[in-house]
Amino acid sequence: MTAGSSPPAFTLQTSSHPLYTNPALADICMGCGSCAGACPISGIDSMDPRKLIRMATLKMEKELLSLDWPWKCTLCGRCEQACPVGVEIVELIRTLRSTRKRALVPGSIQLGGTTCLEQGNNIGIPKDDFLQVLHELQEETKKCTGPDSSVPIDVRGSRLLITVNSKIPFVEPENLQWWWRIFYAAGESWTIPADNWEAVNWGFFSGDDDAARTMVGRIVDNLERLSCQALLLPECGHAAHATITGLQRWFPEALKQYTIYTALDLLTEYIDTKRIRINKGLCYERTTYHDPCHYSRNDWVTPAGNSAEQARKITRTCCPNFIEMTPNRRDSYCCGAGGGTMATPFEAERIFHGRIKARQIRETGARVVVTSCPTCRDQLQAVLNREFELDIKVRFPWQLVSEALLPAEKQP
Ligand code: SF4
Ligand code: SF4
Repeated sequence: MTAGSSPPAFTLQTSSHPLYTNPALADICMGCGSCAGACPISGIDSMDPRKLIRMATLKMEKELLSLDWPWKCTLCGRCEQACPVGVEIVELIRTLRSTRKRALVPGSIQLGGTTCLEQGNNIGIPKDDFLQVLHELQEETKKCTGPDSSVPIDVRGSRLLITVNSKIPFVEPENLQWWWRIFYAAGESWTIPADNWEAVNWGFFSGDDDAARTMVGRIVDNLERLSCQALLLPECGHAAHATITGLQRWFPEALKQYTIYTALDLLTEYIDTKRIRINKGLCYERTTYHDPCHYSRNDWVTPAGNSAEQARKITRTCCPNFIEMTPNRRDSYCCGAGGGTMATPFEAERIFHGRIKARQIRETGARVVVTSCPTCRDQLQAVLNREFELDIKVRFPWQLVSEALLPAEKQP
């Protein structure tokens, strides 16, 4: 269940049955097919959310666990959103993921989770290498942020704790620099932990709740150890979802103790309170916004606001030639790379999943697509661009804001 949302009609109960025990399920699921109609990959490999529900109700565990459906599903939640009686289809699919033998988890999802537990991040970057790359990046960033700026690593008493997506330091370091420039312009007090800094929770993807809890617990430990007051959630929609639902489920006291920001909350606060000043009208090419599933479909938005509207406000400010794709917001289609599917061998399914998103983008005529999730960006820019010849550039709201920052002398 998500913060701020109404409880579902019923909840799967996994304590005395590997999948669920609620005997009312068979009666409550009307077999109406709304879920199947909403699911972009319904039909692939004969997959159909209705069949999952029915097979679970009939306790066809062996058959269900042999299926790859749960790993081709992106956990996008569109089926659940369409269900008129509130069947928790995504929770069932995550339960199926968690029930599979670990050695049979496809792709590198399980390996990433294990590496994170053992080495503190999903791809096993050694601490010295991580600190070295941050130092080198900061030397470059000083050209914008001034000679006295430094990377605040493990600085006790900083207001804001940052986590890092492990694919970024070596593959896409500019993503760190965009944020750093914004922090310096805002006069933010921030820090990056030297250990256990991983932002992305692959325990959530693999269905390994013990691992997921350890990963969220490490973030809480860093908040305590460094005496921070606030946490910037990972940018990735699923990582943010995994972190905030992990806090709700296992560390609810942390939600009371610390201010929790999404990336969009923080940017909006900086702009609205005039902590930063930005140039309006950075890009005049036709621009649209892709709603990452968890930012827009779930109600876990923090008290600061509605992520979908925050994203649009920032995008429209920087890119006034804005056009919506439809359906959007809560009804948006997944791009195809959620749920850890990027780390599975099911590439053809991932591309097929994204065909509706590709069509939507083409219909807008946009040359620029803004989105708030690095995984969506990779799928849109590297995969759908190639497969559907979209000829688009994909940008993040924090990239737009960083590039639109007025010079230091014009900041407050
Ligand atoms: S939408 Fe809900 S009620 Fe209808 S078939 Fe799917 S799970 Fe059953
Ligand atoms: S891909 Fe999305 S809509 Fe389809 S079953 Fe999975 S969560 Fe539901």
